[in-house]
Amino acid sequence: MPIKTRQRFVVGNWKLNGNLAANAALLEACLVAETHPRKVLGVCVPFPYFGQLQLALAKSAVRYGAQDVSRFDQGAFTGEVSAAMVAEFGCQLALVGHSERRALFGDSDEVVAEKFGRAKQAGLTPILCVGETIAEREAGITEVVVARQVTAVVQKVGIEALAGAVLAYEPVWAIGTGKTASPAQAQEVHGFLRSFVAKHAVEIGSTLPILYGGSVRKSNAAELFGQPDIDGGLVGGASLVADEFLGIWQAL
Ligand code: PEP
Repeated sequence: MPIKTRQRFVVGNWKLNGNLAANAALLEACLVAETHPRKVLGVCVPFPYFGQLQLALAKSAVRYGAQDVSRFDQGAFTGEVSAAMVAEFGCQLALVGHSERRALFGDSDEVVAEKFGRAKQAGLTPILCVGETIAEREAGITEVVVARQVTAVVQKVGIEALAGAVLAYEPVWAIGTGKTASPAQAQEVHGFLRSFVAKHAVEIGSTLPILYGGSVRKSNAAELFGQPDIDGGLVGGASLVADEFLGIWQAL
């Protein structure tokens, strides 16, 4: 397998799961991740647990962060949590544009772009999630969809804002379904995304970490991560099972 020089990530997305006791056990397992110059282990968790993570991960290389941030900075926006608040708790990561936010909570491409900008402004590493539905794949418009999702962000914050960010390709039909994109299917879209970004800025395109998400397991991670343009994974369900999550990390 060729040695890749881009930074590589395995990031767990706990979604609406967890409790203090179960979190403690999972975090304990994550502590095996040692500092590595190019490999990052991270978890994106529900907001109330930031304090717990701040304590549990204080001396570790494991990064943590939010599953979403507000498009607003501050003010009369009941229920919102700003990127700056997230950063105050030692968070370094923020998912934006997860397909569940897009589908269930109405996050449009424009809203996602605003959230991306807020995360950047707060000094977080945004992980911009893009991906097509099964209907869009069957209609042959996968590339059109992911290009549109990335373009909305580039138009809002400029291509330079992608430097230091992370992209996650998550086909909607593979999320939480047990149906993983084949390594070849995923590589095709990752390769497209990299060249799409490189058309705007060659250096950013070649250094941008692009993670795959959608039913990643320890049994399929190595083959996915071995693809030339796949720089790790964004992991939902399997990130809640210590043995699975660590198996995926070991495959990076
Ligand atoms: C996700 O929520 O980002 C995800 C990829 O979920 P799962 O791994 O469960 O498909």
